[in-house]
Amino acid sequence: MESATATMREHVQEVWAKRPIIISGPCSAETEEQVIETAQRLAATGKVDVLRAGIWKPRTRPGMFEGIGTKGLPWLQQAKKLTGLPVTVEVATAKQVEDALHFDVDILWIGARTTVNPFSVQELADALKGVDIPVLIKNPVNPDLELWSGAVERIARVGVKQIGLIHRGFSNYGNTEYRNAPMWHLAIEMKRRNPDMLMICDPSHISGRRDILLEVSQKSIDLDYDGLMIESHIDPDNAWSDAKQQITPEQVAEMLNTIVWRKEDVNSEAFHEALEKLRQQINHLDDEMMQLLGQRMKVADKIGEYKRANNITILQTNRWNEILERGFKRGEKAGLSKEFITRYLDAVHMESINHQNKVMNS
Ligand code: PEP
Ligand code: MN
Repeated sequence: MESATATMREHVQEVWAKRPIIISGPCSAETEEQVIETAQRLAATGKVDVLRAGIWKPRTRPGMFEGIGTKGLPWLQQAKKLTGLPVTVEVATAKQVEDALHFDVDILWIGARTTVNPFSVQELADALKGVDIPVLIKNPVNPDLELWSGAVERIARVGVKQIGLIHRGFSNYGNTEYRNAPMWHLAIEMKRRNPDMLMICDPSHISGRRDILLEVSQKSIDLDYDGLMIESHIDPDNAWSDAKQQITPEQVAEMLNTIVWRKEDVNSEAFHEALEKLRQQINHLDDEMMQLLGQRMKVADKIGEYKRANNITILQTNRWNEILERGFKRGEKAGLSKEFITRYLDAVHMESINHQNKVMNS
């Protein structure tokens, strides 16, 4: 038994260093059969390195399935024994850390709803003092890099040596095509700040649906992420949580086969590859700016409706001056010239006025 544990520890070290590192498994452990069959079918693909399963589920509303709890941990132990796959679970309290360690969980992860709360993260950090286990930290639900960094610091300060990051997107107001907006630039900045830390993309929670999983995964690989965490289920439509975003183990393999894996080669092609990556970043940022501009116009439409209801003019000079002043100040901080800001805001403002015009005269 001792040596099996030691061998698994060594294996986890290898997996941690492997690129890409692929983590997959159900959103939630539901039954022993489901966990074991998922693990076996994932292992059979030969493409998955770590089995994930939620044991304690932080659900937005009470009454939803809140996880099977500690009784699911032996199922993971059994799945590991049968497949050789190391296992990872989400922990949010000291007791959960204790239970996970008791049942030989190999890697822990901190969920987005926990990263957001420094009290909880500190509780986890205290429980992890002196414990030699890799920890993955998901981004907080809100787009706050300091909170994400703070969680990393709390966990690092108690001596945890292997820390990885998981980008699972950020909550946003209103409907977008994503369940959690990726805001790629935030993850890119987090990667820049922590160049030696694993950065894994969780396309499942970013997408919230199956049809864009591949696209989101590809984007992350294009941005040189180190791996993926993909939710999978033997019967996705009937999953007890996150049914819409889960895929079968075989579909995970198919998706991994379809992804174009870009290598970070240090050969004569290095220059072209670097250039390509930068261009991809520019494309992603441009896509996001387009989306934001679209959202801005929707807000302008709403303002147009209010103005129409209250019989107010579209153009209000004071407000326009205020927009310009703010723009100059912000723009200067971001290293943008006054001339550019003027032209940019002018164009945006004109588009807003056109939108409002339509609303007010419709
Ligand atoms: C999960 O991985 O199932 C989960 C709850 O994720 P997140 O913390 O990203 O919402
Ligand atoms: Mn989930």
